[in-house]
Amino acid sequence: MSTGIVRDPRFNDHFMGPGHVECPERLEAIADILDAGLDFSLDRIEARPASSDEIAYIHAPEYIDFLSHTRGRAHVQLDPDTATSSLSFDAALLAAGGTIEAADFVLAGPGRNAFALVRPPGHHAERGQAKGFCLFNNVAIAAEHLVRKRGVRRILIADWDVHHGNGTQNAFYSRNDILFFSTHRFPFYPGSGRWDEIGAGEGRGYTVNVPLSAGKTDGDYLFIYRNILGPIARAFEPEFILVSAGFDIFAGDPLGGMNVSLEGFAGLASELVTVAEDSCGGRLLLVLEGGYHIEGQALAVKDVLRRLAGARSALEIRADISITTHKEISPVIDIQRRFWPL
Ligand SMILES: [Zn+2]
Repeated sequence: MSTGIVRDPRFNDHFMGPGHVECPERLEAIADILDAGLDFSLDRIEARPASSDEIAYIHAPEYIDFLSHTRGRAHVQLDPDTATSSLSFDAALLAAGGTIEAADFVLAGPGRNAFALVRPPGHHAERGQAKGFCLFNNVAIAAEHLVRKRGVRRILIADWDVHHGNGTQNAFYSRNDILFFSTHRFPFYPGSGRWDEIGAGEGRGYTVNVPLSAGKTDGDYLFIYRNILGPIARAFEPEFILVSAGFDIFAGDPLGGMNVSLEGFAGLASELVTVAEDSCGGRLLLVLEGGYHIEGQALAVKDVLRRLAGARSALEIRADISITTHKEISPVIDIQRRFWPL
C-alpha cells in the first residue's frame, strides 16, 4: 500500500479577506500536524498548474478567461461569499492540477490511494460561475481527466461535505459513467440535493442524494455508507473512487451543525478503503473541500491519512441510526431501489 499526498504552500496565496472562514490557516494547521511527525509514511505528489484545456473539461472558456483577469488584482468579489486575491487564479489552477496529478498517482496502482490537500475547494463551482468558496471544481476536473485521458470507464464520487456538491452533480447529471453520491445537511446551503434529484436521461440512478437534518453522528454516517453507498458501489463496480472530503461535518465546525468525531472520520475513511479494495484495487483519492474548525480538521485529516496508509482501528463504531435518520433515508432507499440492490 502506498499513500500519496498533495501539499503546496502556494495554495495559501489564495486569500478571500480578513475573517473569512475559508482561510490559509486551514492548510497551515494541517501542515503543522503532519510536520510534527507521523507513525506512517506518505509519498509526496508534486502539484502543477492545470492547463486551460484541462479546466475546460468542466468550465466554460469565458469563465476561465474572466477568472484569469483577477490575476494581480488585490480583491475581486465573485459572489456574496467568494472572492479572489492577486494569486487566487494561480492557486486554483494548482489545486486542479494537483488533483489531476494525484489521480494519476493512484491510477498507477493497485495498492495506491491519496489525499489532495488543496485550496480553494471545488464542489460548488459551476460551469460558468464561482460559488460557495469554490473557483474550479477540482474533483470534477480530475474525474473528466480520468475518463478522457486515461480511459477509466466508471467513477464513483462520494461527497461527505456538509454542503451539497451542486457543481459536481450538475457536471454529471445526465451521465451513467460517473456516479455522484452525496450526504449533506438539508435544507441548507446551496439549496440543492433533494432525495428525488436522481439524475436525468441515461444518468437516472447515477445521482444519489441523501439529505439529512442537523446533528448526524458517526453511527448515522457509518450506517448510510455501509447500507446505501456500499451496495450501490458494489453493483456499479467503479474503476476509481473520488471523494469530496469536507470536514465541516465535524462536531465542532462553526458552519456545519453535524456531530461527527475524529473516530467518525477515520471510520468513514476505512469504509471507503474497504469499498475501493473490493471494487477497484484500492484506487481511492480524497480531495479536501470545506472544514472550518481549524484544529479539529487538522486532527481529522491526520486520522484519515493513517487509515489510508493501512491502519486498522481498535475501536469499532456501531453503525446505528436514530428513528429520525431512518425516516430521512427511507425515501432515498425507496427511490434508489429502482436502480440498485438496496
Ligand atoms: Zn462545505
